[in-house]
Amino acid sequence: MTQYDPDNIFTKIMAGDIPSHKVYEDDDTYAFMDVMPESDGHCLVIPKTGSRNLLDAAPMTLGSLIVVTQKIAIAIQKAMNADGIIIRQFNEEPAGQTVFHLHFHIIPRYEGVPLKR
Ligand code: 5GP
Repeated sequence: MTQYDPDNIFTKIMAGDIPSHKVYEDDDTYAFMDVMPESDGHCLVIPKTGSRNLLDAAPMTLGSLIVVTQKIAIAIQKAMNADGIIIRQFNEEPAGQTVFHLHFHIIPRYEGVPLKR
């Protein structure tokens, strides 16, 4: 398993070196809008501790991350009046992961509206 590399885009976003549209933050978690949204309201939820993906994440990290992901998904579903929500997470490049800091996508879906990409 490849080691976590702190030199990644999401670490720079948390440090404020790359701007982001924050939607939520607490001691353990940061959430922000995806720069290339697949649907209106697409956001990303990340732990503040360094994990490459789900496969190397500590159970406590995962526990708080999924609870916050649920909280944000419910808030976005209400705020955006979404008809459904995709929670998506990739592990390693062959599986589609492009940023190697653990993240959950929250992707709202709307009846009859295709994904943008
Ligand atoms: P992955 O394919 O690794 O699951 O998803 C990475 C996500 O990060 C993509 O949806 C991509 O649009 C998003 N992303 C990449 N760079 C940036 C950035 O600089 N800012 C924001 N807000 N999102 C980014």
